[in-house]
Amino acid sequence: MIYDLLILGAGAAGTAAAQLAVKKGLHTAVVDPNPVGGVCLHTGCIPAKVCLQNVFPDMASLDARRNSVIDTLEAGLELRLQGADLFRGKGILCGKTEVFSVRCGGQMLFSRNLLLATGSVPRRNGLSAEDIFTASELPDEAVILGGGAAGLETASYLRRMGKTVTVLEQGERLLSDAEPEVSASLLRSLKRRGITVRFGVTEPPETAAVIYATGRTPVTTGFGLETVGLAAIETNEQMQTSVAGLFAAGDVTGRHCTAHAAIREAECAVRSICGEADAVDYACIPHAVFTDPQAAWVGKTEAAARQCGMQTRTAVVALKSVGGYLAGGGDGAGVCKLVADADGTILGVHGCGGAAAEWIAAGVVLVQQKINARDAARMCFVHPTVSEALREAARMVM
Ligand SMILES: Cc1cc2nc3c(=O)[nH]c(=O)nc-3n(C[C@H](O)[C@H](O)[C@H](O)COP(=O)(O)OP(=O)(O)OC[C@H]3O[C@@H](n4cnc5c(N)ncnc54)[C@H](O)[C@@H]3O)c2cc1C
Repeated sequence: MIYDLLILGAGAAGTAAAQLAVKKGLHTAVVDPNPVGGVCLHTGCIPAKVCLQNVFPDMASLDARRNSVIDTLEAGLELRLQGADLFRGKGILCGKTEVFSVRCGGQMLFSRNLLLATGSVPRRNGLSAEDIFTASELPDEAVILGGGAAGLETASYLRRMGKTVTVLEQGERLLSDAEPEVSASLLRSLKRRGITVRFGVTEPPETAAVIYATGRTPVTTGFGLETVGLAAIETNEQMQTSVAGLFAAGDVTGRHCTAHAAIREAECAVRSICGEADAVDYACIPHAVFTDPQAAWVGKTEAAARQCGMQTRTAVVALKSVGGYLAGGGDGAGVCKLVADADGTILGVHGCGGAAAEWIAAGVVLVQQKINARDAARMCFVHPTVSEALREAARMVM
């Protein structure tokens, strides 16, 4: 039997691809040695958000809630994968003649198309954010190496649990890809909560537990990629590699490395296989940091727009002037920044404060649909919410 699509990896990318492929009538197989859901469900996004967004009387209650959320989501995912053949085991690519051949345990599987969705692993050995968000016991004192999303979420969680936390960042500011106003706002809030942050430091002291949040490496070795003549994975906007019929999606591509990007990439790959036009617009994929408060952004920063030779108009709204923010417990440090081009077309939305990971959804629509600030200023957002800051920023750049 020859499949239309065989997927290596049942994480966010692999399962999203399988669901859409089955819906489109493709004869689909998924191979993974681990339970479906990958890092996102078992050790990443979901456990982290259970830890960050709830208050528990003790670690046993946290454990119980985390396990129940994971079990519920895993069961739902398995249901939605019905219609695809699921093989438990590591997939080893054995080459391509007319079709791809993949070994899984003692079985050989054949497919016209192959999607690599093997994910990523922490770049450095040692304690990682995943270890902390799945732990039943936490260190009393921790040093976190890395001031990016994973490091800051870990710091936020540990501090909320009453632990002593120091973040060491090698650069000059937190969240190096974010607007400087967002980095500064988050730094103020984290310091107010008692987190110590040191800049220009690359090596931790030999005291306290050290948590490495220094990035992840795509899993591209150990499964026979070389048998199809590839040494590395590079994809175009349709998620196609240079080998016909071979696609990649999710962290393995090393591109955006979030679960929502993985899902978008996976769906795009399946549409390409079906001959439908689709392309991932990376400029419109949002970033979110689930710290307390949250930070999120989408589209171009002011500096990136200028580097592209664009003239920009920008507005920064201090969220302490926004009722929904203060009424919702905002600490006064929050900001919302809007970047537009000379004509007022919105290029980027950036913010720190409240549930930024939620209100950035409005920013995604404004940026992806290339809405003009003039039109955004005439939209009506619910009062009192943080999202009203977007409308105010649009009014200011008009
Ligand atoms: C602590 C933490 C918090 C995070 N929080 C967020 C968040 O809030 N929002 C967000 O969008 N992202 C978040 N992420 C990132 C997100 O988890 C990843 O981007 C996402 O899991 C990538 O999905 P994936 O399918 O590419 O890979 P993975 O989820 O890593 O899945 C890869 C799968 O491939 C399998 N596999 C590997 N090799 C083979 C092989 N040879 N054969 C068969 N199967 C194989 C693995 O067993 C695994 O199940 C977080 C990550 C971490 C670590």
